[in-house]
Amino acid sequence: MKKEKSREELLKEKLFYKKKNAFDEKDENYKSAVMAYAEGYKKFLDSAKTEREAVKTTIEMARANGFCEYKLGDKIEKGGRYFFNNRGKSLYLFIAGTEDLENGIRICASHIDSPRLDMKQHPLYESDNMAYLKTHYYGGIRKYQWVTIPLALHGVVTKADGSVVDVTIGEDEGDPIFCITDLLPHLAQEQAQKPMAKVFSGEGLNLLIGSEPYGECDEAVKLNMLAILNEKYGITESDFISAELVAVPAIKAKDLGLDRSFVAGYGHDDRVCSYPAITAILENKDSVHTLMCVLADKEETGSEGVSGMQCDLIVDLMEEICKSLGGNFNVVKANSMCLSADVNAGYDPLYAEVYEKRNSALMNCGVVMSKYTGSRGKSSTSDASAEYVGKIRSIFDANGVIWQTAELGKVDVGGGGTVAMYIANHNIDTVDIGVPVLSMHAPMEVIAKNDIYEAHKAFSAFCK
Ligand code: MN
Ligand code: MN
Repeated sequence: MKKEKSREELLKEKLFYKKKNAFDEKDENYKSAVMAYAEGYKKFLDSAKTEREAVKTTIEMARANGFCEYKLGDKIEKGGRYFFNNRGKSLYLFIAGTEDLENGIRICASHIDSPRLDMKQHPLYESDNMAYLKTHYYGGIRKYQWVTIPLALHGVVTKADGSVVDVTIGEDEGDPIFCITDLLPHLAQEQAQKPMAKVFSGEGLNLLIGSEPYGECDEAVKLNMLAILNEKYGITESDFISAELVAVPAIKAKDLGLDRSFVAGYGHDDRVCSYPAITAILENKDSVHTLMCVLADKEETGSEGVSGMQCDLIVDLMEEICKSLGGNFNVVKANSMCLSADVNAGYDPLYAEVYEKRNSALMNCGVVMSKYTGSRGKSSTSDASAEYVGKIRSIFDANGVIWQTAELGKVDVGGGGTVAMYIANHNIDTVDIGVPVLSMHAPMEVIAKNDIYEAHKAFSAFCK
């Protein structure tokens, strides 16, 4: 016979907060839905290693779901599904809802750039019969993680005649890869004594790209590298000046763990939030609300510039929507709601000392809400209001979303920001919602399949 619950147990159930783990969900259909969703995500991750590739891949997905291209000034129709391609580097998907626009727009904003190594404008040089490309790292990397790993070159080169060529080397099975070399342990005694921040310098992160000379002359190896690039892409050395070439890990997304419960891959930050936001808006066929899914660039370097979230473009687009559908722009902004979709640090028991576990994101405990981000006394955060958090909380709970709250590590240990404050500064209520990540910003990051699935449920509920 089942023992009856004590008075204390019953009161605890009523009064205590208990974090839910997605594995408590015993339904077999749940597990198969989680595993199936992750398959689509892995494909997306592999085809979208840079912001440009993420834009291209998402446009294909959007077109297949009835979205058509919008240009500034075009007329927007109620019920219309549109994408706005901002210079191939950031993307806006939006659906014009059927309700009064002055009820506001529901916005999901994530970013599609990730930490990596950018090539300098004069990258190519030869040293002791080996050819290298000089890099300038992009975003917050821990330099030691980027040596002796396989790297691929991605990007575009604008030639003198204005034509643009796409470059991808290192992704296909038969492709060569590149790497940054490291010292052998036998000769690293002095290096090993240095503090970690001083072991690798930014100027030392030079990509090894070849060694065969072209005939007999000065800088014959450099010449051969240019000859190979010229044959394949028709480019010359001066074309590097108008290029965006980046080195990213030449790895594919893979299941991690005997149980395949995790996905390991490059660029989970922030594609693990972009993908569920994209699929949520694409799947939405009958929204009364006007919906917008923003895929921003430049988050990792401060959201500046024409493709970053600090650009006025988001409000320009909202204004255009107002012009077409009718609605007071300022009222629309004031009634809009935004989920800033970005990752959070997953609690890592190997480094427990930097986390305050009660307020940390646990892997498999669902999508994470962060009321505030920032650092040192909540500096640089929009800090969502209790009322807005309450509103989002009730949407998630009404739709059975498994979610938790967290901040990034212990107070004063570090911190970090997202695009939330740039959107909130436009008088739009915004809160951070994302997926917990292990080894964030490393060439290979780790997420739990349950958590991305819950992110998809969360964004879908928000769009409903
Ligand atoms: Mn991020
Ligand atoms: Mn980041």
